Amino acid sequence: MPNFRRSWLLLLACCLPVFAAEPIPTPQFPGSDHNPAVATVEQVLGYSLGARISEPAAIARYFEQLAKDHPEQVRLVPYATSWQGRPLFYAVIGSPDHIARLDEIEADMRRLADPRSLPTAEARALLQRLPASVWIASTLHGNEISPADAAMALAYHLLADRSERTQAILANTLVYIDPLQNPDGHHRFVSRYYATVGLAHSSDRLSAEQNEPWPNGRTNHYLFDMNRDWISLTQPEIRGRVQALQQMYPLIFVDSHEMGGDMGYYFSPEAEPYNPHIQAEQRAVLHKIGQNNAHWFDELGYDYFTREIFDAFYPGYGASWPLYYGSIAMTYEMASARGHQFRKRDGTILTFADGVQRNFVAFKATLETASREANTLLQNFYQYRLSASQQGEKDSIRSYIFPAQRDAAGHQKLMGVLTQHGIEVDQATEGFRACGNSYQPGAYIVHTNQPSYHLIRTLLDDTVPMDSVFIARQEERRANNLPDQIYDVTAWSLPLMYNLELDRCNRAVRVSSSRVGPETVLPGSVQQPDARFGYLVPWGDMASARFMSRALQQGLHLRSSDLAFTHQNGKRYPAGTLILSRADNPSELTELVQQLALESGALVEGIDSSWVLDGPNFGSMNVKTLHAPQVAMVWDEPTNPLSAGSARFVLEQGIGYPVTAIRPAQLRTADLSHYQVLILPATSRAGYSAALGLAGQNNLRHFVERGGVLITLGNATEWLLEGEQPLLASKREYRISEQEKPLDEPRVPGRLLAEQQELQAMLEPYRVDPDWVPGFLANARVDQNHWLTAGIAPTVRSIYVGNQVYQPLRINDGRNVVSFKGPDELLAGGFVWDENRLQIAHKPLLMVQPRGRGQVIAFTQEPNFRAYVDGMHLLYINAVFRGAAHATPLR
Ligand SMILES: [Zn+2]
Repeated sequence: MPNFRRSWLLLLACCLPVFAAEPIPTPQFPGSDHNPAVATVEQVLGYSLGARISEPAAIARYFEQLAKDHPEQVRLVPYATSWQGRPLFYAVIGSPDHIARLDEIEADMRRLADPRSLPTAEARALLQRLPASVWIASTLHGNEISPADAAMALAYHLLADRSERTQAILANTLVYIDPLQNPDGHHRFVSRYYATVGLAHSSDRLSAEQNEPWPNGRTNHYLFDMNRDWISLTQPEIRGRVQALQQMYPLIFVDSHEMGGDMGYYFSPEAEPYNPHIQAEQRAVLHKIGQNNAHWFDELGYDYFTREIFDAFYPGYGASWPLYYGSIAMTYEMASARGHQFRKRDGTILTFADGVQRNFVAFKATLETASREANTLLQNFYQYRLSASQQGEKDSIRSYIFPAQRDAAGHQKLMGVLTQHGIEVDQATEGFRACGNSYQPGAYIVHTNQPSYHLIRTLLDDTVPMDSVFIARQEERRANNLPDQIYDVTAWSLPLMYNLELDRCNRAVRVSSSRVGPETVLPGSVQQPDARFGYLVPWGDMASARFMSRALQQGLHLRSSDLAFTHQNGKRYPAGTLILSRADNPSELTELVQQLALESGALVEGIDSSWVLDGPNFGSMNVKTLHAPQVAMVWDEPTNPLSAGSARFVLEQGIGYPVTAIRPAQLRTADLSHYQVLILPATSRAGYSAALGLAGQNNLRHFVERGGVLITLGNATEWLLEGEQPLLASKREYRISEQEKPLDEPRVPGRLLAEQQELQAMLEPYRVDPDWVPGFLANARVDQNHWLTAGIAPTVRSIYVGNQVYQPLRINDGRNVVSFKGPDELLAGGFVWDENRLQIAHKPLLMVQPRGRGQVIAFTQEPNFRAYVDGMHLLYINAVFRGAAHATPLR
């Protein structure tokens, strides 16, 4: 028996569970009367609500159970699949009558959304019978955890609560619950969080529990901050949601987030600056919602704040986008325990369950406002859509016209994206004249007399103006060395970011046309497929880059001309044009090229002969063979996850080319000889010096000298300037200042200050960074004679964020192939401080410096910013593929 006893003790010792769950009584709403027949989270998942951070699969399981138990009141709708294959879904909860008629109600809402074709009497009837609707969206940032569990609390409560208050809501309101907007990021957070937990939870902000490893759970699989993606729709999670919202046009959209743990709770009204395309009626409702939330927070003793941060100027937030179809959209922000518990600066403990409870109360209070204001909300929505079309009819811009003379793939993508936004885009099927210009068939037209008028203006205008009083206040803050209050970039014009030409016409264009669909890539084709010599693929858009990527991976032999040429057929081909000869390729080339054109969207042209009338022949030294490069990138601390993610995304999802991610520690000593290209993404706080060290710098120098291509993005370029043997001969500039070096003595000569301005000048610091620029679109000039810019237009638009300004390379060191334009031409869209504008002018955006058999290619700003400055992507792809073709490793 003693043996048994010892083994029993061992068993006990080995099996003390970590992170024991204590029951937490949530959700609570005053006056609730919960029906015990409705399944609780504890009954379905085995732990009570708030006692554990639910994984994506558990959240889905709970909603599936509710839908199974209450089919008359719940409908689950899948709307997207994440990159890692997790389903995204929303649950519609309503009265049995509403759920039975859900399809009909949604169809009615879509009719109400287009007053142009709706007789007034019918509109009135729809307004009488339609319910209000609220969409609660949780946990877009995967490490903002409590909103997802609060979504389960709300679903349970709506089905279980028999109180009059809840029944009144369900009588006239449909509730859409989107419990987990970012399942991949949330899964990353939850799995790694529980992996750090020991016998007891730690509330210490030093603990591993409170410090996520790189990359944190905020982003999705490709490390995108999806709360910036609503204008460009690059990610499937956002694309799916934007499509789903247009099924019903919910009248209120709540995007539920978390913020720093020392803060309280934030809800509407939002901070300045407002986007001027948001209407006064919308702001009025934001106040009403805030007031009722405040009423319940007061009742329960919860702190909150409004207005001070989280502005609604940038339209790419979840809390912004629905405003532009006429809804009320808001962000709610709960202080995050970022785990089970967190010790606040005041010594109190904030728990995960606190977050679940407060979010639940804010959601419920919002539903109450929606139900009370149902008629106003519906009426406002209808009026918004009606007056938007009418405003467009009278606007000084009646038609946006894209001539579409180059970059067919870029145009197709943008028009597809606009269509996904619910904007009607037409493509002319014949030539036409408008506002003094002639247009070819194929030009695209966006008429402004649409219910999406405000969204059209917001997305297509170069600049959305910021309030001048607000700007004056920012200048004042800057003069006092205080940070500005601009929360995000000040420019996002899609035509500028795609670098497409756009005309604005003050008259309605009448021309026969067809309506554009939501496809962003159309199948390509091959002209003269049986041509004797082979094929040309004109270089200059993403379809040609996709063709190249696939052709290289299939082992086809590709050459690319560094110079433009005129073929015997009389057509001029741009620098970079791909050449596939039959002689160098397998016998089934015709079929392969046809398949590649179909998939990539490229327009391929067969040629019978290689003879050119002008420019290099295909056997010239100016025509390079493209090898399929092995591409690696740095991954993990200290890279900025957003830069790393988009650098990988543009290659992998933009053109289908695989990238190997390598952690910095490996780069100190690794043999990199089987790679041709290494990309250093921008960094977060720390630069690369500490992560790579001298060993890493030497290793990467040898990599380049042996024939590698080293590409730096944004502030990673700074690392190239460091050490005794810098890899790039540029320098970073300080802020321009008259200030002289201070004397190293305790006493200095006296100085007279006659004017207050002189005092201000004396306060200026010595040798500091230029001021931080929140983000504008800058015009840059492209050297048309360099192989790195083959196929690129003479002007590109880059985002400019931050405070880095680099000196140009001297002519004996390298080339500044893309430079910012002069001070008067620099600003393409948005807002920049005057001092920065003057200093950035003419400075390099893209430098290339040959070194040994390879080269260093440095972007001084992020070319893949949010993967939405599409006009920069081909330049980045040139750096990778044409950079590799111009290196000369021993093969
Ligand atoms: Zn967030």
